[in-house]
Amino acid sequence: MKGFESRTSRDTEKTETNTVMDQQPHKPIMKAQIPHLRALQDLDKQIFRWNKERLQKPRALDSIDKEVAARRAEHDGKLKSSKDAKLEVEKKELDLKEREERRKRLEGQRDQSKSNKEYQGYNIEIAAIRNDAGRIEDDVLKLMSSVEDATKLAGEAKSAMEAAQGKHDEAKMGVDAEIAKIDEELKGLRDRRAAAASAVDADFLKIYERIQRSKTDAVALAAAVQEADGYHCGACRMGITFQDINTVMKGKDALQCRSCSRLLYLDAKPAPAPAK
Ligand SMILES: [Zn+2]
Repeated sequence: MKGFESRTSRDTEKTETNTVMDQQPHKPIMKAQIPHLRALQDLDKQIFRWNKERLQKPRALDSIDKEVAARRAEHDGKLKSSKDAKLEVEKKELDLKEREERRKRLEGQRDQSKSNKEYQGYNIEIAAIRNDAGRIEDDVLKLMSSVEDATKLAGEAKSAMEAAQGKHDEAKMGVDAEIAKIDEELKGLRDRRAAAASAVDADFLKIYERIQRSKTDAVALAAAVQEADGYHCGACRMGITFQDINTVMKGKDALQCRSCSRLLYLDAKPAPAPAK
């Protein structure tokens, strides 16, 4: 079965016992195109593999992308908590200021009192405000401490986020470098492919490329593989009729597999090498 993979340009030189030699002049025959098409297919397979790998490369960043997103969300949450806590403190401080102003106003009014009763009345009110203010001051102190905690947590979350981002950037640089290498490889292969394609007859090339476009694996050629029960398409395993294999053997016209449409060729199985 490995003979399928063995590329040989001897296909053309090797005369099959039943090759018909009555081809029209000028019109290229399939058999003569096979080595060129196989060379082309070999390059196309390589290009296909590299393209596939190129597409896969950024996947390596998936987990670190997720990590960065998670750290960012965590940081956003912690930052919001710390801002909320600061706002709460500001609100309490405003409350406190308002009590302070009310107390001063009442103290002024108290000092203008016309009677002792009135004076005492103000004092009761002022004491209530002082009491109230004292409670708010306690709250502020407690809140200040939670602001401190929240700020610290936000800072830690920020460091974790930046560390994840740094890891991401580093991984991305690695991936970009690998992609650049693949692009270089692909450029070389595409140049070689252009040269290989120019060696193929235009009509055969058209057929080859049309089939190739319809395939997800970029494989347009299939070897006719001989097995105990006859010939099979090396790509889709469909049996090849006697009539079809005869056409393939003659090698004059292009013949497509009736199942997968790939161009069939006869894989020249080298005769068992005599032991030297
Ligand atoms: Zn097939």
